Amino acid sequence: MNQLEKSPELSDIVGTRGPGTGADWLARYSSSLLGVFGTPQRVLVRGAGCLVWDADGKEYLDLLGGIAVNALGHAHPFVTSVISSQLATLGHVSNFFTSPTQIALAEKLLELSHAPAGSKVFFANSGTEAVEAAFKLARRNTGASPDNTVKPRTKIIALEGAFHGRTMGALALTAKEAYRAPFAPLPGGVEHIPFGDIDALRAAVDETTAAVFLEPIQGEAGVRPLPPGYLQAAREATSAAGALLILDEVQTGIGRTGKWLASEDAGIVPDAVTLAKGLGGGFPIGALVTFGPATSALLTAGQHGTTFGGNPVATAAALATLHVLENQQVLAHVRVVGEHLRAGLAGIDGVTEVRGEGLLIGFDLDADVAPAVVAAGLEAGFIINSPGLHTIRLAPPLILTTSQADLFLAALPALLRTAKDAQ
Ligand SMILES: *Cc1c(COP(=O)(O)O)cnc(C)c1O
Repeated sequence: MNQLEKSPELSDIVGTRGPGTGADWLARYSSSLLGVFGTPQRVLVRGAGCLVWDADGKEYLDLLGGIAVNALGHAHPFVTSVISSQLATLGHVSNFFTSPTQIALAEKLLELSHAPAGSKVFFANSGTEAVEAAFKLARRNTGASPDNTVKPRTKIIALEGAFHGRTMGALALTAKEAYRAPFAPLPGGVEHIPFGDIDALRAAVDETTAAVFLEPIQGEAGVRPLPPGYLQAAREATSAAGALLILDEVQTGIGRTGKWLASEDAGIVPDAVTLAKGLGGGFPIGALVTFGPATSALLTAGQHGTTFGGNPVATAAALATLHVLENQQVLAHVRVVGEHLRAGLAGIDGVTEVRGEGLLIGFDLDADVAPAVVAAGLEAGFIINSPGLHTIRLAPPLILTTSQADLFLAALPALLRTAKDAQ
């Protein structure tokens, strides 16, 4: 018998040491996992398409998709088989080396983002790491003249309500005081200006500005799109001042809005775009795309790096995900189902505003009951999210069907009643 045949099953390794119920697992969780996430809502054990099951056997329609991550749902057969075969062929190499999937994915991302000649890609493992790379790119846009007569650019501008991640650089760009305050001092020079205010932006960007960071739609702030004309104004102001325009499309990119990039209709070329969440179809991967040779030259050999970033398995997972999105017309599907969901939501009593594009949807309620709606949703078999007290966010797998969307639309009035009764 060879070693492999003697191998135990994963379930033997995981073990249950008890009844293996959700409650049992959560007790073990709370005595072994750092408490930064509070108590998880459920213990999930299996998924297929837009459905997941918990440790107690209960089924859920997943309308959050791991927060805009599971683009093709759970356990997509093609993505699963590509990941498995890449892992069985070459699982990891250091960045002293490269691999075909890494190069092919970089080329694919440059193509899908309509990047001009001389554009480049850096791979990371998460959104926050993609943003860290962008932060370092911004720091290298010093603007200082060789004779040192020009002051170096130290100012970075982000928006009120911005979420760019939790590592120190990305956290400096993130606006929420509750996330920032415990970790002061953060990397300096970041100013947060009022959301969507073009005049405030024009006033803030000057020749000491290294970069402006924008999310085309602020996901964590409750799915808040920038007003029309804002991206164009940001491009004009940054170009005039020699500052970089960096778009954080970690949540909005890769088909989430029914377009490859949420910013693609704005008719502008940014200096850099960050991607992550949906890119690997559930497998961890992030990317920074730098546009054009001048921006791409800001980070040179030795100035940044990563052990795992651009790993063959992660890049294969992303290639497989992009292949399915492209070849099965998933983006057109996203536009149709998203429109259907938004129209349905707008007609529901108690829903006061519906925002978003494609399958990144936020809606406001006429009372501060969003967390209770999330709880009622779980009881009724729906996974949704409340980024605010009166706001619900949906970011389901991009393969959500119209009839699955209808199940939620039909259930929502009762969820709202349950939540209000619980007040
Ligand atoms: C989620 C998110 C991040 C951080 O990504 P992580 O993978 O959680 O580090 C950064 N920017 C935006 C816009 C996001 O939505």
